Formats: sequence, C-alpha cells, structure tokens
Amino acid sequence: MGALDKDEARKSYATIEGSRVLRMTAVEPRPDLADLERPALESALEARGHKRFHARQIFRWIYKHGVTDVAAMTDLSRELRATLSSEFALTTPALAHRDISADGTQKFLLRLADGRHIESVFIPDTPANTFCISTQVGCAMACAFCLTGKMGLVRNLTAGEIAGQVRVLAGALEMRDKKFNIVLMGMGEPLHNYDDTMRALRILADEHGFGLSARRITLSTVGLLPALERLAREPVMPNLAISLHAPTDLQRGELVPINKKYGVADIIAACQRFPLNRRSRITFEYVLLAGVNDSPQDARKLAKLVAGVKSKVNLIPLNAAPGIPFERPSDEVIDRFAKIVADHGVSVSVRKSRGRDIRAACGQLIVEGPRKSAAQQLAVVM
Ligand code: SAH
Repeated sequence: MGALDKDEARKSYATIEGSRVLRMTAVEPRPDLADLERPALESALEARGHKRFHARQIFRWIYKHGVTDVAAMTDLSRELRATLSSEFALTTPALAHRDISADGTQKFLLRLADGRHIESVFIPDTPANTFCISTQVGCAMACAFCLTGKMGLVRNLTAGEIAGQVRVLAGALEMRDKKFNIVLMGMGEPLHNYDDTMRALRILADEHGFGLSARRITLSTVGLLPALERLAREPVMPNLAISLHAPTDLQRGELVPINKKYGVADIIAACQRFPLNRRSRITFEYVLLAGVNDSPQDARKLAKLVAGVKSKVNLIPLNAAPGIPFERPSDEVIDRFAKIVADHGVSVSVRKSRGRDIRAACGQLIVEGPRKSAAQQLAVVM
C-alpha cells in the first residue's frame, strides 16, 4: 500500500462525507446570521431553545465590532458559541481586490459565497462619506449607456450580501464608528430586488447594529411603478432618486427600455403622490448624452416636467466607456443645460464624477459575465 493509495482513500472518503453534508444542508439550510433582521433572529434563537436577548449581542458583534465568526463572540458562553456555530451560518463577502483613485474614491471587488463578484464604492467627502452599494449581480434593466446593464441580470443579492457590503467597507476603511451615507447606486436595480433590499435597510437601521437612519440612505431606481407604490408605504423609507434621463417617452424609451412599460407621465404622477417629510425632496437623475438629450429644448421640457414635484435635478455627464455608443457633452453644453433648468426655478446640481481612473464612476461597475473565467472576472473597460 503506497502513501498515494491511502491519500486517494482519504480523499474519496472526504468526498462522500462532503456530499452527505451537502445533501443535508440542501434539505435544511442553516439560517445565516448575516441575513436575518433582529426580530427574525430572536425567533430563530428561541425556536432552538436559546434566549432571545442573545440577538442583541450577536448584532453588536457582527455590525459594531465587525466579527465574522461566532467563535469570536466572547460574551456568549463557549458552549453557546459552539451550538450556534452548528445551527447558524455567518457569511461575509470576501474582499478580493481594492483600487484607490487619485481623488480618494475606492472601489472594492467583493467575492460572494457562490464565487460571484460585485463591486462597491467608497466616495469620500461629498460632503459626507458615502458608500455606493450593489443590490444585484448585474442588472436586467439594460439602460443603453450603462456598463452594468451589459452584463444582464446574473442574480439578486440577499439582504445579508447587501448589508454585508457595508460591513466589509466599514471594516476596511476603519469607519465602524464614523458617520456615513449609503447610496443604492451600485450594480443592479434595487426595486427589482425589493424584499432583500428593504430587509437589508432594516438590518442596517437596527439600533444594536449600525443604527443607520433612513435619512442617510438614498435608493436610486429606474422607476418600477408597482414597487415604487409599495415603497411609498414602507415604515423605514430611504430618500428617493429617480433615473429619468429624458423628458419624453420617445427619448426615454430609447435609453431606458423599461420606460415602454412604465412611462414618464406615470412616474411623475407616482412621484407627486410619494410621501415626503418636510425637508426631503425627490432627486431626478439625468445622464447627459451629447446630441441625444442635452439640447436647450430638452432642458426646458425637463424643468416643466419636474416642476410639479418637490424635487431637485442631478445632472450626470456621461461616464464614457468602450462599448457605450454615446459621448459626454462639452462643459459648455452641460453648463447651458444646468442654467436653463435653474432659470425655471428648479434646483439643479451637476454630479462630479469620482473614481473614473479606477472605473468606479456611475455606470462603470461591471464584473464577470456568466461565461467568463475567474481570471477575467475584473473586466477592463477603460
Ligand atoms: N438601477 C438604479 C441604480 C443604478 S446606477 C438606477 O437606474 O437608478 C446609478 C445612476 O448612474 C443611475 O442614474 C444611472 O442611470 C447612472 N448611470 C448609469 N450608467 C452611467 C454612465 N455611463 N454615466 C453616467 N451615469 C450613469
């Protein structure tokens, strides 16, 4: 009997064991501590014969202290930690790569448990520090100027993976105790992954976790109407940004395919009905594309369209990329457009592109296509 035989024997044993474990977990997957809201965690603990109050301790460890292993939760007894480790998973996205831009913006490539990748971006001092978070791997919306849209939708992120991005970034940037804002403007359409996105926001809002107030969170959407109506009734409601991009259905339909289903007038009407507290306004995002939606006439139409909504317009000069069949307008055209909108009494700002040198700017987040190898996962797009 050579050593090789013994090794082979051990390997096949491990495989048999492994597949047995896999089969068992497939029948009854362990709940993931990172994917549970605190009330759900309390119930899950109780159902397994533990005290509900441990949920607070677990939340503090995961979100305030950045612990990624139950074994490190040292105010729980050794015995309880061992039991919890067998009863629950605790999944954290792995930091696969980090790029730092000359302007301080940082892009994080995160590897999920199934090997898929997503990107999250840290944008410093705008004026607050902002985390730009993904809600899906890829996106189904296929907006004509967006690179993520070229990937198609690979899958939804779980609430644990959405909140997990905040855990990883806050840890890597040593910002657990600092204030930061969150924009759901990374990869994906948040309202196309409604339940997990909202659950992630409730997890992030928990007073025993990050305690992130909804005022610090902005959800950006193409305007999926049924989901928008649902959002209007949520108890924890983020700020709302609508990706409008054109003032007429004819133009918008060419840029944002879903406009054929939910048109401009319906979106504006939904925005008018949207409950806003006294200080907040809806942001209309408008990507400026040379010769497509940047004329003085477009600016006037846009201003009139949004005049009836308590809103502001955020102009986003296109971040160009190979494969995107549009160009960024000149600075003169951008200024002219902004001035016309402002002259109509509409509040307007021009979004400064951050992190373009590391492809972290709006619409530049793209990772592996379904058919690409691991080595190709970080697509070079600039
Ligand atoms: N799906 C959501 C959030 C994604 S992106 C949404 O559509 O709102 C956040 C913003 O970046 C959107 O307004 C989007 O239209 C914009 N964007 C996409 N590609 C861009 C590009 N190449 N240049 C500038 N902005 C872009």
